[in-house]
Amino acid sequence: MENKDLYDVTIIGGGPIGLFTAFYSGMRELKTKVIEYLPQVGGKVTYFYPEKILRDIGAIPGISGADLIKQLSEQAQTFDPTMVFEERVNDLKREDDGTYTLISHNGNRHHTRSVILAIGHGTLGVKKLPIEEALQYEGGNLHYSVDRLEYFSGKHVLISGGGDSAVDWANMLEPLAKKVMIVHRREAFSCHENSVTEMTNSSTKIRCLCYVSGLIGDGNRIEKVRLTHVDTGKIEELEIDELLVNHGFDLDLGGIKEWGLNMIDGKVVTDGKMETSIPGIFAAGDIVTYPNRLSLIAGGLAEGPKALNSAKAYLDPEAEAMAMYSTHHKDFVEV
Ligand SMILES: Cc1cc2nc3c(=O)[nH]c(=O)nc-3n(C[C@H](O)[C@H](O)[C@H](O)COP(=O)(O)OP(=O)(O)OC[C@H]3O[C@@H](n4cnc5c(N)ncnc54)[C@H](O)[C@@H]3O)c2cc1C
Repeated sequence: MENKDLYDVTIIGGGPIGLFTAFYSGMRELKTKVIEYLPQVGGKVTYFYPEKILRDIGAIPGISGADLIKQLSEQAQTFDPTMVFEERVNDLKREDDGTYTLISHNGNRHHTRSVILAIGHGTLGVKKLPIEEALQYEGGNLHYSVDRLEYFSGKHVLISGGGDSAVDWANMLEPLAKKVMIVHRREAFSCHENSVTEMTNSSTKIRCLCYVSGLIGDGNRIEKVRLTHVDTGKIEELEIDELLVNHGFDLDLGGIKEWGLNMIDGKVVTDGKMETSIPGIFAAGDIVTYPNRLSLIAGGLAEGPKALNSAKAYLDPEAEAMAMYSTHHKDFVEV
């Protein structure tokens, strides 16, 4: 499908940073489109940890991932950007007049004068449990995300994994589950120290050097999990109510890798103005790398407006370097 409208800015990615950038783009009176691959906004926050309480965003002592995205989404809607879902942008074509055409996986074409990449680590997926019978228990009591905390209330939950998600789940579920056990095939967890300290000081049972090697159940529900000890090869069986797995993510930048952007380790190199190596293409959030970047939502929330101000200057070199304060904006000034 040909979307003939020419936009000033097209933001690829509707995660937290794409959403805030869309708001700021409206502040700068640019015609804005957001293209998101998933059917919903929120990026990793919605996908991996909607129930987690985030405490590292300035002026917000604590907010659930879902509420944060609800608020960012509401804020993004202020200036009514065009939102496109379930399209993965793969290709980029520079037209003779200097504008860009973005081409999605389904062949849809989007015309834009500038692009902001807010694509995180690419499109999101989870690594599945490498056990043949696992598939039949998905949708039953095998889970790859925690959508509703209360569901696990009073249950015996086994978590498999050793990264941030697995440990965050253990800490979230420990107060309400009957019993939480975490199994990890390595000796040490690879996540924030304070999360491991919290888990170690809780009632969560920690079993390192151990992995889930088999599932025993009736085809609908897992009744027991088979655990194998890495060192000894010893096998034991454990009764569980729910199995939660996080063995990492399948993240894919797709065709964007081929655009000719200067990249290091799967990230787009930018300068302080969030400019990439291609004129008219800017980037913000987890996709970006530069020295001493703050890998937190708080860091990305500052990069979005910087990228947008650079896009504005690219489109209109005479424009102010940055937007006025929102409190001075005509749409927010109370008369
Ligand atoms: C388990 C876990 C816990 C975390 N906890 C915290 C925390 O407590 N505090 C904190 O500050 N940070 C935390 N983070 C990090 C935080 O989630 C990220 O920094 C943040 O999500 C980055 O936002 P983003 O918008 O740059 O990218 P993402 O959230 O990754 O969003 C990118 C979006 O772009 C879309 N996309 C990608 N490629 C394309 C394409 N080609 N076409 C269309 N759409 C595309 C994706 O589908 C996705 O929706 C955590 C991360 C994880 C994994």
